[in-house]
Amino acid sequence: MVLAQLGGSISRALQQMSNATIIDEKVLNECLNEITRALLQSDVQFKLVRDMQTNIKKIVNLDDLAAGHNKRKIIQQAIFNELCKMLDPGKPSFTPKKGKTSVVMFVGLQGSGKTTTCTKYAYYHQKKGWKPALVCADTFRAGAFDQLKQNATKTKIPFYGSYMESDPVKIAVEGVERFKKENCDLIIVDTSGRHKQEVALFEEMRQVSEATKPDLVIFVMDSSIGQAAFDQAQAFKQSVAVGAVIVTKMDGHAKGGGALSAVAATKSPVIFIGTGEHMDEFEVFDVKPFVSRLLGMGDLSGFMDKIHEVVPMDQQPELLQKLSEGNFTLRIMYEQFQNILKMGPIGQVFSMLPGFSAELMPKGREKESQAKIKRYMTMMDSMTNEELDSSNPKLMNESRIMRIARGSGRQIREVMEMLEEYKRLAKIWSKMKGLKIPKKGEMSALSRNMNA
Ligand code: GDP
Repeated sequence: MVLAQLGGSISRALQQMSNATIIDEKVLNECLNEITRALLQSDVQFKLVRDMQTNIKKIVNLDDLAAGHNKRKIIQQAIFNELCKMLDPGKPSFTPKKGKTSVVMFVGLQGSGKTTTCTKYAYYHQKKGWKPALVCADTFRAGAFDQLKQNATKTKIPFYGSYMESDPVKIAVEGVERFKKENCDLIIVDTSGRHKQEVALFEEMRQVSEATKPDLVIFVMDSSIGQAAFDQAQAFKQSVAVGAVIVTKMDGHAKGGGALSAVAATKSPVIFIGTGEHMDEFEVFDVKPFVSRLLGMGDLSGFMDKIHEVVPMDQQPELLQKLSEGNFTLRIMYEQFQNILKMGPIGQVFSMLPGFSAELMPKGREKESQAKIKRYMTMMDSMTNEELDSSNPKLMNESRIMRIARGSGRQIREVMEMLEEYKRLAKIWSKMKGLKIPKKGEMSALSRNMNA
């Protein structure tokens, strides 16, 4: 079960509960059982799931809730909070500071995506103004240095390694020393990964850690690792002071629930997720927006950050203002589509938009979705200003629909489909009415409000 499916199952369980006329013990139990099943199938550790169920039952005491209470909302909020709690160890990880040297060491099993992630991490910080450098202390895997070198050269990040030297500790120390002298403020040390948890690997890791005294050790975990995630993460944590987790290959068919287990095992937060093989397929991980996305509620803060990144500064206030007014017109939908096409990697952006993810863009079918958006936009090009700016659904009568179909060379059925899509999105976006639009980088109050 991929994470999107987990989200879907949880949302469905909540929906079924919403459909019930009376929410009693039986309905609540059914809902919780459904969620438990979904989490277990997604490889979340059994104990975590059991604790979550117990906690929700403690919080939602149906007998104590007065008749006036919105039980559904209280249950939904409790589930949201518990899922957040699972992913939030309660303390933030060390964050490197610009201009001050930090050493960050990467650990993980071979094939987890460690080397790729080292470069993604370096590249991410480089784009934000850091001066990163990469040290390859993986002397075990033939080709590890070449791979790091290749990635580093592509992204113009300085690197250090050796074809001759076989002592990883020596390389790590030399690399760190050199880049300290060169005033690099983020020195990233990639270590060897083996096929499985081997005593020798852990000993080597411990030695590299002792010699380089990293400010942060990041455990890289492949999201497809499944139920083994907990033990694996714990084994690493017992050998070195893991302070953060990065979960890779979240774009694949992984069950993803292992991420939750890794957090529990290392008591460290997930700080980034890898969503593809390319350098920029790397996302900052924030618990609340992630859980919102998981539950199909969208991730407005991520979306806002993307808007800040790609929409020209002078157009931002206008667009955000329109969104917060809650009048989701066809023109706004058109502008959203324009932005989405500009924003690329389209999949990432889509999943952040409430309502835009599962229905409009099923995972793995990004190309088709892109074509669909373009088709919708062609049809909207045949609309009048009055039609684009109206939020009155009754305006779009038969003769207008026929005219738009003729004008865009499309079928009437397709225009109707586009209008249906608009209605669906308008309904979701109407919830944004009156909400405060966050400034760049601000953790959004929006996603919290959407969940309230
Ligand atoms: P290492 O042995 O842990 O250093 O792993 P590598 O960095 O060599 O990665 C192993 C494979 O996983 C490579 O083919 C990477 O391109 C791929 N990979 C790494 N991260 C991701 C990711 O987030 N998504 C996908 N789809 N592939 C990834």
